[in-house]
Amino acid sequence: MQFFSTRDESRRVSASQAIAQGLSDEGGLFVPESFPQVDAEALCALDYPAMAAAVLRQYLTDYDPAFLENAAAATYGAAFGGKAGYLAPVEGDTWALELWHGPTCAFKDYALQLMPKLLVEAKRNLGRTEKTLILVATSGDTGKAALDGYHDIPGVEIAVFYPTGGTSEIQRLQMATQEGANVAVYAVRGNFDDAQTGVKRVFADKAIAARLEEKGVRLSSANSINWGRLVPQIVYYFAAYAQLRKAGKLAPGGEVDFCVPTGNFGDILAGYYAKRMGLPVGRLVCASNKNNVLTDFLRTGEYNARRAFYKTSSPSMDILVSSNLERLLYHVTGSAAEVAALMGSLGREGRYAVRPETLAAIRQSFACGWASEEEVAAEIRTRWQQDGYLCDTHTAVAFHVARQAKRGGVPMVVLSTASPFKFPRSVLAALGETAPENDFEAMRALEQATGRAAPASLAGLQAKPERFDAVIDPAQIANVALACGE
Ligand SMILES: *Cc1c(COP(=O)(O)O)cnc(C)c1O
Repeated sequence: MQFFSTRDESRRVSASQAIAQGLSDEGGLFVPESFPQVDAEALCALDYPAMAAAVLRQYLTDYDPAFLENAAAATYGAAFGGKAGYLAPVEGDTWALELWHGPTCAFKDYALQLMPKLLVEAKRNLGRTEKTLILVATSGDTGKAALDGYHDIPGVEIAVFYPTGGTSEIQRLQMATQEGANVAVYAVRGNFDDAQTGVKRVFADKAIAARLEEKGVRLSSANSINWGRLVPQIVYYFAAYAQLRKAGKLAPGGEVDFCVPTGNFGDILAGYYAKRMGLPVGRLVCASNKNNVLTDFLRTGEYNARRAFYKTSSPSMDILVSSNLERLLYHVTGSAAEVAALMGSLGREGRYAVRPETLAAIRQSFACGWASEEEVAAEIRTRWQQDGYLCDTHTAVAFHVARQAKRGGVPMVVLSTASPFKFPRSVLAALGETAPENDFEAMRALEQATGRAAPASLAGLQAKPERFDAVIDPAQIANVALACGE
């Protein structure tokens, strides 16, 4: 299996190269040359780690299959408390795919606990000995999940950039208290797009790459633009199907819809790959918060990032430029020239419009909707009061949209992307309780109000010393990168 750039099909690389490099040189994203076909029924017989290895093997064809098996077994066992890909009943034939039982309590652990192993092996496959500097722009959850995955990995340094005030206090502390000799964390003045644009600039700057190369350092990305981030996320769509089949809720080959709380379009795109690989996915429902640029795009075919940016109670979805949409545009148009033109327009004018045929093709697989802040709060309260199901703000966005998109006779799986205890103040307020200012007091109050226990990795944060407090401007991200290896 080879991969090529969404903006230039002649730039072909192996899986190891795609993972080691992150982004293609001219700014495009790596996509697989084809969609491998798998037998979803056969995968149903496997446990999560074996299922993960079976999916990974399809794409990472220059990796040793035994390595992939061991890596999946080491990743998706104890670290996920035996609950990798756990499907919880909510009400009727609506289910929650709980993806937050990993070490940092958000779904990004699925990719970022595995990615470091894939990267080290990619370098081995390629015979590379340089140091890898990973730069991560985060709106909260990616940063911590990447830090947790990469800390103390040999031959790697990682620097994480998050928008000042753009994360919850718990998310900030998760990052600021990160241990490890090879990690650094910076608050960046501005919003997530400012931080992401700053990081993308560094990746695109040939002079920076040259100066780092002199020092034996090569840049890489842990953001969901890296293929190594996407491929592990395909697995849990199959796992959800397997559990519905096992529970007798679905006939063989029966369709299931998924509703995904979306920001950078990575998680939902993994569902599209699962579908193209042969999983009987009906619709992929793209759920947005008040930053509903994707809802507008899926309704009209115009992507317009020039709009007000809102800080919401679901900060990991506060994104105006959804990078992974570029991959979908490639798969639907089949034309790198067309994608390059659209992305050029996005860069210059902050907008682009796809052809009506392109929109129609996208809408064969994708539905959409969004939730206001009031609707998110009401959804958290309703799910708790009616179903006894406690969900976080991101998941609540998806529940709200899923109720509107629900089709009779087709099970709906809502991807539950974070633990409710990661956003305790918002969840508590939604339940109608007065939320204490302090996140940890709120965590305890939420435990009391619901009788549920906060994950130990979150409750234990308060006792940890803060290691990082630097605040920088987006333009300084380049200086941080250049200081690596000194
Ligand atoms: C990252 C994140 C999302 C959005 O996922 P994308 O892949 O960026 O679309 C949703 N919810 C939570 C909790 C997240 O951390």
